[in-house]
Amino acid sequence: MKGKENMLNVKPKSLHVIGRNDSCFCGSGLKYKKCCMNKSENERRHIFEDINNPVVNEWLFYYYPISQFSAAMLMHARLVTPELTQIASNLTRSITSRGEEEAKQIRMEQNPIQLLQMLGRGLDNINYDLLISRLSEYEAQVTPALIEKLWNTEDDVLIEQGIQYLHQCSEFPLHEIEKLATEAPNPYIRSVLCLLLGFKGPETVLPIIWRQFHSLRSHYPLENYKEWPLYGLDEYGRRFGLLKS
Ligand SMILES: [Zn+2]
Repeated sequence: MKGKENMLNVKPKSLHVIGRNDSCFCGSGLKYKKCCMNKSENERRHIFEDINNPVVNEWLFYYYPISQFSAAMLMHARLVTPELTQIASNLTRSITSRGEEEAKQIRMEQNPIQLLQMLGRGLDNINYDLLISRLSEYEAQVTPALIEKLWNTEDDVLIEQGIQYLHQCSEFPLHEIEKLATEAPNPYIRSVLCLLLGFKGPETVLPIIWRQFHSLRSHYPLENYKEWPLYGLDEYGRRFGLLKS
């Protein structure tokens, strides 16, 4: 109990930054002193539970702390610095002959749909980079075929490699991804795509990420699906200047 109290006493950075006369963090447009300054902790929390009114600022991560050790965190890091994965693969290639046969196959394949078949469980880890760069040569065929696959797959590797491909696409298929993130039957796809939308989407994707965050959080309290949209909201907040880095 004591620990919990202590945790609630740790205020996020923004609180120290908000002055009495600054506009309130809840987005009401009122001055802080006329608005949330006088509200209880519980009333403030409710602001971030309103499914119809997204509010992204440091307070959000106060009520929903981002986990520092999760698959979503790793993917976030990979999307921020894609060259790191490449360096790691090249390093492995330089010291072993692991996956060489497979790499040869990937380099030779001329059929984009055959290439796409390889993007899933079973490939040597060090070859995914190579495969994604080969797939990028055929974006016009690969992107729609991948999206088709994502509607019904349960293959986590396909989903995770798929978003790395989509992240570096020259033509990001925004509408298809929005639809998938909202309607795909597999909650893991919906959650992972929210991270991608945080990286690539325009301002209009905020309500989608927000709704998925709350829906995944309440429907799957024991899973960590909500981590992905949370990282998506973090990335979104930085891109649009709602969060200081
Ligand atoms: Zn307020």
